[in-house]
Amino acid sequence: VFVVFEGGEGAGKSTQVTRLAEALKADGRDVVVTREPGATDIGARIRGLVLDRAETPSARAEALLYAADRAHHVATVVRPALSRGAVVISDRYVDSSLAYQGAGRTLPVQEISWLSAWATGGLKPDLVVLLDVDPGVGLTRVDSRGEAADRLESESRAFHERVRYAFLDLAAADPKRYLVLDAARPVEEIAAAVEARLSSLLSP
Ligand code: C5P
Repeated sequence: VFVVFEGGEGAGKSTQVTRLAEALKADGRDVVVTREPGATDIGARIRGLVLDRAETPSARAEALLYAADRAHHVATVVRPALSRGAVVISDRYVDSSLAYQGAGRTLPVQEISWLSAWATGGLKPDLVVLLDVDPGVGLTRVDSRGEAADRLESESRAFHERVRYAFLDLAAADPKRYLVLDAARPVEEIAAAVEARLSSLLSP
């Protein structure tokens, strides 16, 4: 079973990924926690390239770098884990590219979708948990963690709004595959909602 968490900056994805992984491990499940970009050695180098402040890649180069990270991640981490029956939980996946490189950078979303399908060999998540956050709230949260705030603020508020609505549109188009939760809700409530939804996907 392949579960992906998506959302804007400061949505609380990593907290929820950890919570879910711990709950599943406590149930005795084989769980692999991973993320994009940067889960592999090659991915970590690509992450350095895309998140480097020194030289920002052009939009198409950035899209290809994320796609390369994803192709390698899927081939070497995600597919092997799924094949042995593990639950794979990824912090970001294809929707992040549709939202950031597509809607955010205004590249054609359909083209990013094709690129992603090629990179992954068509691997789709069983469940996408979208932690929806108002960019103003999310960026304040990230700021208070002192986390790469300058990089995040280099994108306009409009950029983050486009990203947010791209995620919501993707979820609305495929409601069976998505769980959309308000990231402002208490951590416990979000975790409980995710576990409840996932339990219907997991065989006992
Ligand atoms: O989720 P995480 O904080 O590790 O993401 C790092 C950064 O990479 C985020 O600030 C996000 O804006 C960016 N990103 C992106 N396109 C993706 C994935 C992440 O621009 N496909």
